Amino acid sequence: MAEYSEDDFLSLLDVSEIDKRLSQLDFQRTHLPEAIALNEVNARARDLHVRSVELASELVELRDAVTKAEIDVEQVEARMAKDQALLDAGSISDSKQLLELQHELENLEKRKRELEDIELEALALVEECQHQLQDIQTQSVAADEELENAKSALEQSIHALDQEIQTLHTKRTANLDSLDENLRNLYVKIKTDRAIGAAKLNGSKCDSCHLELRGAELSDIKKLPVTELVRCPECSVILIRVERA
Ligand SMILES: [Zn+2]
Repeated sequence: MAEYSEDDFLSLLDVSEIDKRLSQLDFQRTHLPEAIALNEVNARARDLHVRSVELASELVELRDAVTKAEIDVEQVEARMAKDQALLDAGSISDSKQLLELQHELENLEKRKRELEDIELEALALVEECQHQLQDIQTQSVAADEELENAKSALEQSIHALDQEIQTLHTKRTANLDSLDENLRNLYVKIKTDRAIGAAKLNGSKCDSCHLELRGAELSDIKKLPVTELVRCPECSVILIRVERA
């Protein structure tokens, strides 16, 4: 079995702890609550924009309906004015014709009231739509602001994590470089295969697989100097038995 220095094993323990922290940070980086918050506000802002565009085009249609109703009323009023002028002129002497004209005026009056009701209804709808649009636009402005804040919160969190990751990588490289080359290569190989390359032997328990070593297995290991390379019989990681000063 290969033997290394205590410093080698301590550096290896550092690397292994750094690697553990790095994988936690990698997970955190892809599961940031700020990212979830950003997605939520992004979806909300998008919905509000869509709704705002819908309402704006609805408003155009409703205003057109008001204009149409106004024109309809004006046309009936013009016709009524014309009929009234005929009546006022007193030029119609035929009683049947006169009755017809009066009857038409009554009908026009009725029609005018109906059209005015339609116009009022259309105006009410315009007003309601305007309020809705205003409300949605206010919400939309607030959501856009929230979106900007959520974006910068996410950027800040990522930036902080990246800085920590960067620092750890630098430390990791320095520690790995200081290691005996064989030990380094072995660690890297085990870590590539199993995600964890080294762990402390905590009493009789491996800190990687958390299984307890027993009997001869344990007593054999205990007999070996701490500078001797030992691997966990269960999970194959390098077992570190050197204690930090
Ligand atoms: Zn193990």
